Amino acid sequence: MENRALFTTSWDDGHPLDARMAELLSRHGFQGTFYMPLSNREGLPVMPPGEMRRLGQEFEIGSHTIDHCPLKTVDAAEARRQIVEGKNQLERILGHRVSGFCYPLGQCTWKLRQMVIDAGFDYARTIEKFHRTMLADPFQMPTTIQFYPHEHPSPRSVLGKARSLFVRNFTGRGEWQRTKDLYSVFHGKETFTSRLQAMLDYVCFHGGVFHLWGHSWELESFDGWRQLDDFLRYAAERIPVEGRLNNRELLQYAAANSG
Ligand SMILES: [Zn+2]
Repeated sequence: MENRALFTTSWDDGHPLDARMAELLSRHGFQGTFYMPLSNREGLPVMPPGEMRRLGQEFEIGSHTIDHCPLKTVDAAEARRQIVEGKNQLERILGHRVSGFCYPLGQCTWKLRQMVIDAGFDYARTIEKFHRTMLADPFQMPTTIQFYPHEHPSPRSVLGKARSLFVRNFTGRGEWQRTKDLYSVFHGKETFTSRLQAMLDYVCFHGGVFHLWGHSWELESFDGWRQLDDFLRYAAERIPVEGRLNNRELLQYAAANSG
């Protein structure tokens, strides 16, 4: 990839605090994609349809199944229903096509990936980290870093094994080659803030994509709003306006500049 730095963000689960996230991104001139289920089986609130439409006027909204269903825990018929109906219901609310999908909890297999393709999506985001390049397969769009300073407690930590299996299946040994630089940069710093800044500096210097993702509801637990405000200010001084994209635009950019 050329030496240009691109910056995208994505925010999962459609929590009502996503409205605050959208406001913060706007204030710093950044774009983003919000992946929304219609409800959340884990009991977290999801923003009402009117708020989704309002947010969708400025930001991309992608699908995140009907009710935040971890797709490997249900049978094929239910997984397909979650993928297809999650898209249909969101499209009815927004009044336009939804082209992006995000696997809840990062759970994916070849079969699930094929269901997402069959449902008519253009791409799907994973939770793979330490990437600064797009992969050839748009149905495994990776990320750079989650905006969350700690290792996840259970139940998310148990997903580690399934996730690395997914990556091995898809990308083999190339995975480590693609992620080792940012892995080293990340572990070369002590604090979350300095890690984020060093990774962004690296992407700005070498070129590529900085893809920040997270959950607005999680930011409440660690003074995240102030830290994100600071980081976006840092990023705004370094990323030119034309390099600020949402996930769909990032995909289009990659397609136009490949080969
Ligand atoms: Zn989620």
